[in-house]
Formats: sequence, C-alpha cells, structure tokens
Amino acid sequence: MQALRARGLVCKGQSAAAPGRSQGETASGIAVSANQQKLEELRRRAAARLAGGVNSPVRAWKAVGGQPLFMAEGAGATLVDCAGVRYIDYVGGFGPAIVGHAHRQVVEAVAEQVRRGFAFGASTELEVELAEVICRAVAGAEKVRLVSSGTEAAMTALRIARAATGRPAIVKFDGCYHGHSDALLVRAGSGAMTFAMPDSAGVPQALAGLTRVAAFNSLADVERCFAADPEGIAAVIVETVPANMGVVAPARGFLAEVGRLARRHGALLICDEVITGFRLRFGAACELYEAKPDLILLGKIIGGGMPVGAVAGPAALLERLAPAGDVYQAGTLSGNPVAMRAGLETLRLLARPGVYEHLERMSARLAEGLAGALAGAGVPGCVNRVGSMLTLFHGVGEVRNAEEARAADLARFNRFFHGMLRRGIYLAPSQFEAMFVSLAHGPEEIERTVAAAEEVLAEARVGLKP
Ligand SMILES: *Cc1c(COP(=O)(O)O)cnc(C)c1O
Repeated sequence: MQALRARGLVCKGQSAAAPGRSQGETASGIAVSANQQKLEELRRRAAARLAGGVNSPVRAWKAVGGQPLFMAEGAGATLVDCAGVRYIDYVGGFGPAIVGHAHRQVVEAVAEQVRRGFAFGASTELEVELAEVICRAVAGAEKVRLVSSGTEAAMTALRIARAATGRPAIVKFDGCYHGHSDALLVRAGSGAMTFAMPDSAGVPQALAGLTRVAAFNSLADVERCFAADPEGIAAVIVETVPANMGVVAPARGFLAEVGRLARRHGALLICDEVITGFRLRFGAACELYEAKPDLILLGKIIGGGMPVGAVAGPAALLERLAPAGDVYQAGTLSGNPVAMRAGLETLRLLARPGVYEHLERMSARLAEGLAGALAGAGVPGCVNRVGSMLTLFHGVGEVRNAEEARAADLARFNRFFHGMLRRGIYLAPSQFEAMFVSLAHGPEEIERTVAAAEEVLAEARVGLKP
C-alpha cells in the first residue's frame, strides 16, 4: 500500500477500504473516488490504444460483462487494483504465481539480477542451471530448449515431431489450449473457448486441415484419428490435466493408453505441462498418470511470472534443433537471465518439504467448501479439482470433456463471478479457466472465499425460477 501511495495510485485513507469495495462506493453510492475516476480514464486510454483494449483477450471480461480491472500491485494471495480495492486472487497470473505474488525471495533474486543486466545475446550460467533443475525433476528430460512463452514451446515441439517422423498431421483434443500458433488454434480452449471461436480467422485451411481433433477422455476418438490416417500423424498433443476448458481430470489410464496408441502408430506423444508442470508435483504431472511422453512442454511456473517456455525430452529429439540439427528455432530473449532467476528462485521455494501438501490441503478444503456451498444453496453445479487447480462448473452435474464443459450455465457463472468480485474474491473472468491456489493462500483466505461463495450461491438460489 505504501508503494501504491508513493506512485500516486491510492488516495490517503484508502488502505482502510474493505475488500471488494473501494472507498468511493459509500453506502449512498453517490461519491466516486478519485481512484475510480482514474480507473475510468485508464479504461478509456486502453480502449483507444491497445487492440481490443487489452494484450490478451480474456482480460477484457467480454464473457462476464462489466468493466475489467487494472491491477496495480500483488502481494502473496492478494491483488490490489488501480482504485485501491483489495482482492483474494485465484487467477495467479493464469498459473505462474504458485508461491504467491511478489514473494520476497523471488523479488530479491530478480532485483539482484536486474542490476547485472538482462539481455546479453549470449549464454549465461543461469540458463544452464534452470535446464539442469528441469532435467533432474522431469523423467525423460535429458535436454531442454528454453523459449519465451508456452506458445513457442508448443510450436517448437510440433516442428520437432514433424521433422522426426516426416509426417504432417497432428491430433489435439477439443478444449485443450496450447498457445496461439496456427496449427494449434483449432477447437482450442482458454480465450478461444470463452469467445466461442473454435477456429481463428487467418489460419489457412491447408494448415488447420492437418490438425485432427479428438474429444478429451475418448480413446475411441483417438483411434478413429489414427485409423483415418495411419501413416500421416506426427504427434498427439495433450494437456496432461486440461485447465483451459476449466479443469478436467483425465480418466484412469487414458493418457497412458493415448501414449501406447501413438507409439503403435509411430507418432510422438507431447504432454503440454505449461500449467501442470511443477504445479501438481515437483516435476511433470504426466508421471502421476503413467503417461510416457516423448516431449514435455513447460512454461508459467518455471518462469516465476516472467516470460518463459521450455521443450524438454530425450537428447535424440532435442538435438534435432538448430544448431545441432536441421529444425530451426531461435529467440532474442530466450533464456534471458531475469526470467531464469525468477524461475530458479520459484523452483527453489517449491523444492522445500511440505509445499505440495500445503497446496493440497488448502485446495481440498476450498473444493469441499465450494461443493458444500452449491449443495447448501440447492443450486446445480460441480467442482472439478486436480491438486491446486479447480473449476466450479455451474448448472452441470459432471464435466469430463469440452462438450460437457460447454453445457455449463454461463449466465449463472457470470453472476457468480460478479458476486464474488463484490466480496473481494478475484476469479478468472471465464467459466473455462481454473482457480489457482498458491502457497500464500492459508486457511483465512480459503474460509473467506468459501463464505463468499455461500452468500453468492444462496442469492443464486433466490433468483431461481420455481
Ligand atoms: C498458457 C498455456 C500455453 C501458452 O503459454 P503462453 O506463455 O501464454 O504462450 C500453452 N499451453 C497451456 C496448457 C497453457 O495453459
């Protein structure tokens, strides 16, 4: 708060603002604080000069309506918006903030690195160190290529798979998101699902046609893809635990079986762990499901909130990349030292004993509390949880794939989102995203969240038609 004030973002006296309510929102509802005006002005400036007012679509709140927030500061499990209103945060930067925002150790490491410079266009020890940590933690990872985003990692892995197999086609799953490269923007999750854009304009049919789509958790669909094109498929790419159609757990044995099918047909299995890597355990989540991918994608957490992605796998595949091999890939800011320090320090914090147990305890209580709130209010819905990622799907009894996710009651979700926001709980502005629990979420945050959900869902009950 001190820092906010110093930057002129917060009025004097604002620090007393109750969660979810700014000073300007008085009981009379008439007064509008200077900070609210500042927020309005910021929205106008963003709308004028940023494409669609944002740099990533889901931030625009198109699905839920209302005026998107601009965040000023984060600390632990808390975010503070530009009007000085505080929230318990479950967006977690869409995944990376697993140790909480602005963790002291991460901040100090990054600050120290920044003083030494941050883009040399040459290799540094830090890149080697992060690659070593990844290879020690991730089964099957002998080598790593570090890039600057999950999008790049997925695009690079496909290129390796196509080069290694000499085949053009890929199989992906409806509702899985692997970034926004051409081949992967077909029935994608995340923003593409939020905006009901199964395919993007600007992707040539010749490319999109090479992407075959299967329903998640349907082996029959994967078999059908291989039967239709037994010699043409380079790789199957899958989110180990999908979190971009909301959280959906893989059925028992599903991933292992997909891997066997791919192998039998000479195709690679690519597990996209950009979200799940180091979130569900220290390493890749695919080990929990006995999936043995040929390539693993990482991102988000391994950059600690800075832009990072990685492709990891056996030396024979990674050495296909230039300069050792014939598959071209490069990046001006790849492996940049500031991102490396943020990632290394975050992973150091995650390597401490008890970390994943804490996440599990808090997340289990949250899921139980949300399910209890649904039951108590007598409103339909279900809570999907895998480790510290969860989604409350409104109006549906079970969600095992994208089609069932799309059946969720979005109007109900939107009322829930705004009700929670008014009570100081910041959720992702889409039904098709996860809530992320961090190490900074303790019993107090979880119980406040559950209490808020009970109130909001009780209101939803009142609103139900008899
Ligand atoms: C976020 C995400 C990506 C894309 O990563 P960016 O860094 O946003 O490009 C890819 N795959 C999954 C599973 C993701 O959640």
